[in-house]
Amino acid sequence: MRLCKKVCNPLFAPWNRALFCTSTAANHSKIPLKAEFVTPTSASIGQIRNQFASWIAIGSYKPGLLSHLSTPDIMRALFVLRTCSYDFVVSRSIQLFNISTKFGPLGEWGLRKTFFNQFVGGDTLPGMKLTVESMQRRGLVLMVAPVLEEDIEDEQSSQKTYDDNLQSLLNLANMTSALEKKKPIIQLKPTAIMPAITLEKVSKAMTQYLEDKKVTHATLISQLANCIEHPKNLELKLSNEDKSQFLDGLQRADVFVKHCRDLKVHVLVDAEFYSCKPAISAIALILMARHNGDYHHVGNTIQAYLKDAVQTIESELKTVTEDIGVNWYGKIVRGAYMDRERYLADKNGYISPVCDTYEATNISYNKAVKTVLKNLSQNPKKKSHLLVASHNEVSIRLAAQAMKDYEISANDDRVSFAQIYGMADYLSTPLVSKNYHVYKSTPYGPIVKVLPYLARRASENRSVMMGAREERDMLWKELKMRFKM
Ligand SMILES: Cc1cc2nc3c(=O)[nH]c(=O)nc-3n(C[C@H](O)[C@H](O)[C@H](O)COP(=O)(O)OP(=O)(O)OC[C@H]3O[C@@H](n4cnc5c(N)ncnc54)[C@H](O)[C@@H]3O)c2cc1C
Repeated sequence: MRLCKKVCNPLFAPWNRALFCTSTAANHSKIPLKAEFVTPTSASIGQIRNQFASWIAIGSYKPGLLSHLSTPDIMRALFVLRTCSYDFVVSRSIQLFNISTKFGPLGEWGLRKTFFNQFVGGDTLPGMKLTVESMQRRGLVLMVAPVLEEDIEDEQSSQKTYDDNLQSLLNLANMTSALEKKKPIIQLKPTAIMPAITLEKVSKAMTQYLEDKKVTHATLISQLANCIEHPKNLELKLSNEDKSQFLDGLQRADVFVKHCRDLKVHVLVDAEFYSCKPAISAIALILMARHNGDYHHVGNTIQAYLKDAVQTIESELKTVTEDIGVNWYGKIVRGAYMDRERYLADKNGYISPVCDTYEATNISYNKAVKTVLKNLSQNPKKKSHLLVASHNEVSIRLAAQAMKDYEISANDDRVSFAQIYGMADYLSTPLVSKNYHVYKSTPYGPIVKVLPYLARRASENRSVMMGAREERDMLWKELKMRFKM
């Protein structure tokens, strides 16, 4: 029946051919996307709007769409998003923030009134409460992005720093559960609770172990999960120092997820650098194995810009749902470390793991989403969950269309969407109005910590910052309407 539906569905055939296939460029001739940071042309986006998920009114300005914003908020958003559209600003954002802080309280005031208020939920509980209440009035759900992480080339932090970070995360979970009752999420960056270099070494040791012992991924995950209670059983070839760093980090992750599970706060493990991917995925899968028996409490992140993304999704779904037998949970993102990945590949003499073109990343993203939705539709009784984390209208439309084609309703508890706080309200609001679950990933923390973090994120997400043209158009229209221009 389902097969027949797929063959007969007039929407499915061109979509499958044009947007999910990974073969030759000729096959992509129907893809109305240009490569390299370019969004679809207005003609092609118009076609897509008519063809896929046409019931979602993204792209058409209507009075009321931005009524939640005060006029000063609109002016600030226009200023900040316009500023972020200049490549020279975004690529030098860290230096520019550093210069602004040299102006003392005046510089800090300027940053707070602009970038901080635009992109950060708050730095105090009352401030965050106001943000969350405003989101709740618009049907948006809180997803907290803690500002604690280590770069792959940073100097390793002390154990005390990781313990302190765990304590901050536990406090943040308490705050999140106090502010938001509707299944809030906290993002967990593994490099906040263990050194990036350890994650790299564990990744190598895992790959070696799988090759030497010829065991399945599920067997290795079960063995590693067992090490939380029995640390002596860790068989990976690592120095004693690395073993204890890894086991301490794993313990911290487990303590955090258990605490969140008790508070009914979901946890999504963020994806970071490719060299850490096997270890980070293993941590997420171990946590799923331990906590996702009856529900989706904790999940992983898949970066679709990686050439092996679809393969990773397929293998992860099998390992988690079939071999381990628990619910899978994950967010699919395009990936935020493209420049650094290419730089590291170049520096260390290996082929970049990132897709060579934007178009290839788009195909990979849409295919990864479809793979999970298909799996969800084939297992309706499971409580697995997919979070479609993107600001790409085409991907959002394709995901919504696939949900419909797979008979997954908009408000189904197995799928949700997410955008970054301060951005893409013109996508989030129409999704909410059609009953989809929508999260806003919202950083929380003091200005001195959050702004350098945001600057790094901004330069890693240059395309998002530079591509906010549609959003600015909507803001202008709203402003003109208010001033009757
Ligand atoms: C809620 C949320 C959580 C997130 N969590 C994570 C996370 O855990 N880890 C993480 O890495 N990122 C994360 N991100 C960021 C994400 O990976 C993207 O960087 C960001 O969302 C932009 O992609 P897009 O789908 O929104 O939009 P688009 O603007 O359509 O896509 C831009 C992205 O396409 C890719 N791209 C652009 N040009 C090229 C090119 N020439 N070749 C190949 N690929 C190209 C890059 O990934 C770039 O970021 C998250 C984003 C959101 C909204």
